[in-house]
Amino acid sequence: MNDENEIRPGEVVIPWRASEDASIAFIGRIQTPWKTRAECPRQGQMDGPLCQISLDEIWREALTGISRCPRLEVIYWLHLSRRDLVLQCARQDKVPRGAFSLRSPLRPNPIGTSLVKLEAVHDCTLMVRGLDCIDGTPLLDIKPDRKALPSSAETSDERFLR
Ligand code: SAM
Repeated sequence: MNDENEIRPGEVVIPWRASEDASIAFIGRIQTPWKTRAECPRQGQMDGPLCQISLDEIWREALTGISRCPRLEVIYWLHLSRRDLVLQCARQDKVPRGAFSLRSPLRPNPIGTSLVKLEAVHDCTLMVRGLDCIDGTPLLDIKPDRKALPSSAETSDERFLR
């Protein structure tokens, strides 16, 4: 069986433990069709399969107005990632590259972001297309796509500009 945490020739791991200098709270979970990392696409596609974002009930009010946002930026915690790999070799790549020059899930703070198409909203559940994470991935945040925000010349609506 393929070990998804294997170190490949040329890769470099550093002795490092994340310090607890930020308090990140998971606000929900993401349900996708993919049960393993190997099954996930490298990057989500807007015409990809329907995925479900389930927010914890306490965040219900924070979803007010979201149905007016056709595109969302979803931010999630790639919880199965190792966090100490500074030089990495993509499977097809012989030359190691630094973690910060890649969109690899293996990074000191394994934050993933995807731009998604919002298909439906039911209570605290969003149905979206465009994700690339494994089923059960913790949710960190949701923001409207910045490209869809009105410019300050077009609106003085503070709700959009905060
Ligand atoms: N779109 C995000 C980005 O660019 O920030 C993530 C891209 S990353 C290349 C996507 C890959 O992360 C998937 O193909 C899968 O191999 C891996 N992955 C998905 N969910 C994960 C999870 N919960 N923990 C660790 N790795 C995950």
